[in-house]
Amino acid sequence: KSKAQQKGSFLFFNKLINQQVHKDLQLESALRLALKNNEFSVVYQPQICIQSGHINGVEALLRWHNEQLGHVSPVDFIPIAEDTGLIHEIGMFVLEQSLADISDFNHHREHPITLSVNLSPRQLNAPKFIDKLVAAAGKHTIDSQLITFEITESLLIEDLAHVSPILQTLRDNGFNLSLDDFGTGYSSLSYLSILPINEIKIDRSFVDKLLTSSETENLIRAIVAIGESYQLTIVAEGVETAEQLAKLNSFQCHIAQGYYFDRPLSLTDLNNKYLTTVCC
Ligand code: C2E
Ligand code: MG
Ligand code: MG
Ligand code: MG
Repeated sequence: KSKAQQKGSFLFFNKLINQQVHKDLQLESALRLALKNNEFSVVYQPQICIQSGHINGVEALLRWHNEQLGHVSPVDFIPIAEDTGLIHEIGMFVLEQSLADISDFNHHREHPITLSVNLSPRQLNAPKFIDKLVAAAGKHTIDSQLITFEITESLLIEDLAHVSPILQTLRDNGFNLSLDDFGTGYSSLSYLSILPINEIKIDRSFVDKLLTSSETENLIRAIVAIGESYQLTIVAEGVETAEQLAKLNSFQCHIAQGYYFDRPLSLTDLNNKYLTTVCC
């Protein structure tokens, strides 16, 4: 490349980076005001027992609607919330809201469903975090055994020594722990014996390729078998077709979550569809 060309591409990338920085700053300042302006809501995606076809529980998923920015995906704003420390307050909002919603839902049901909440590993570092969790669960009279915290494997591993005892304390308080997006991080298998978890969630990217790649099929079958040997619950995320579901069932995967059953639902829609159904 000529000097001029090099300079051209440098300027081009520089411009791209500046645009990204500008976008992030814009998101950050909007994010700071979002809680105060009630721009967040929580939706619930059912998790279905594959054997029975009945609901087992729901995963709480955060939604953000901002006047200027429209709907912003959590994939885009959670990392910024983590970097700025806003995740602590936002995370508590998700927890309080979902506990209130699902404990109320359960009070109207014969059999309670479980609630899964995504946790950023950064939240685990907050002082008195566990005290706050226990207090919130107590306030909403929901049994900690019905609550699962989903933590993404990749982030967890970075800070393993520090985070492990905190996870153990969560388990000691009766909460369940799930390794989210399983298979996308590094050397996942060795962590299964170290981390005090009771569930793994097979990442959507694997379920996507289940029917078209025999390698992926073998991988999923192996994950289920290994999970089984550690007596873990195995959840498949991103299940979109009956064929995927049938295959997962043949591997004896326990729980499925995905558009085949439901998109993430508002509390009203969850009530309408599932309030009077049985559990698995
Ligand atoms: P995740 O925890 O792995 O959640 C599953 C994501 O897959 C959700 O995206 C869900 O809407 C989507 N999904 C479920 N079934 C299907 C399907 O059949 N097909 C397809 N294409 N997608 C499906 P969402 O809600 O956009 O959330 C993205 C990620 O943002 C989550 O991934 C999680 O890592 C993070 N997140 C969401 N809410 C929270 C929260 O309250 N706290 C934290 N820390 N992270 C959150
Ligand atoms: Mg999750
Ligand atoms: Mg996941
Ligand atoms: Mg995921």
